[in-house]
Amino acid sequence: MKKTGIFFTYFQGERLRDFPQALAGILEKENVSYYDAVYDSRDGLYYLTPASEELLLEVHSQDMVQEVKLTGNYESALYSAGGTVQAADEIWQGKIDNAFVFTSFGDHHAGRNFYGGMCYFNGAALAITSLKKRGIERFTIVDTDCHHADGTRDIFGYDDDVLHVCFCHQDYQDNHRNVDVRIPYHTSDEEYLTQVKQEFIPRVEAFKPEYIFWEFGYDATQGEYGDKGLTRDCHLKLAQLIKAVADRVCHGRLITILCGGSGRSPATYIIPRIIDCLAELGIYH
Ligand SMILES: [Zn+2]
Ligand SMILES: [Zn+2]
Repeated sequence: MKKTGIFFTYFQGERLRDFPQALAGILEKENVSYYDAVYDSRDGLYYLTPASEELLLEVHSQDMVQEVKLTGNYESALYSAGGTVQAADEIWQGKIDNAFVFTSFGDHHAGRNFYGGMCYFNGAALAITSLKKRGIERFTIVDTDCHHADGTRDIFGYDDDVLHVCFCHQDYQDNHRNVDVRIPYHTSDEEYLTQVKQEFIPRVEAFKPEYIFWEFGYDATQGEYGDKGLTRDCHLKLAQLIKAVADRVCHGRLITILCGGSGRSPATYIIPRIIDCLAELGIYH
C-alpha cells in the first residue's frame, strides 16, 4: 500500500463544508497521514506549514506578494500553497509516497507577477523550486482543470526541466514540453480519457520525471461553472490513470492539488474516492 499524506486547509466557501468529516474511515488508516492547518491535540495529527515568504519571492514578484497581502486572503493563500510545498518535502524525506492537497485558493492562474481566478500563489511552482534545491531535476505538471493554466505556463514555459500538459479549451502553445490539449464543450468521459491516454501518458513516460503534480479541478463536471459534460466518475478514472503512470515512472511520487470546482456535493463524492485510489484502500470498490 502507498503511504498517502492529506494536507488539509479550509478557511471559507461552500465546497469543502463536509470535510474533514467526509474522510471518516480514511483518516484512521495506518498508511494515511493527516496534516491540518488548524492544530489540535488529536494523536497523530501533523501541523500543516504555511509557505514561507522567502520561498514565495523565489517564484513571485515582490509587488505581487505585497498586493496579495492587501486582499485579506494572504494567510489562507499561504496555507493553500504550503500544503503542496510540504507534501513535496515529506515525499522527498520518504515519509509519504503521494499526497492529496486541499486548497482554499488554487495554483494555476498564479504567474510570476499576476494572480486571479481564485489563485494567488502557485503551490506546484513553489514546491518545484524547493525540490530543485534538493537536487531533483525533472518534473511533470498535468492539469485537468477546465481552464488554461496561464500562471503555470508563465512560470515554466521556458523551463526545460518541466513538462506541462494542460487539458483546456484551445492550443495556446505547443512544443515538446508545453502541450495544450483542446477539450471541447460537450465531451464524454470516454473522449476525455482517450485524450489523456493519447496526449499525456506517452509524453510523461518519455519525459521520465521524478515527481508528478496533478492540478485536479472538477469545474468541467456536469452542472459546474465550466461544465464540459464530464461525470463525477471521470475524475476517479483520471486518478487511476495518473496514479498508475506515476507508479511506473517515478516511484509513485504524485501530488494531487485541488484546483477549480465550486459544488459541495461533487467535492464530497469525488475527493474521498481519489484519496482511496492514492492510498490503495479499496473502500469504495
Ligand atoms: Zn492550457
Ligand atoms: Zn478552472
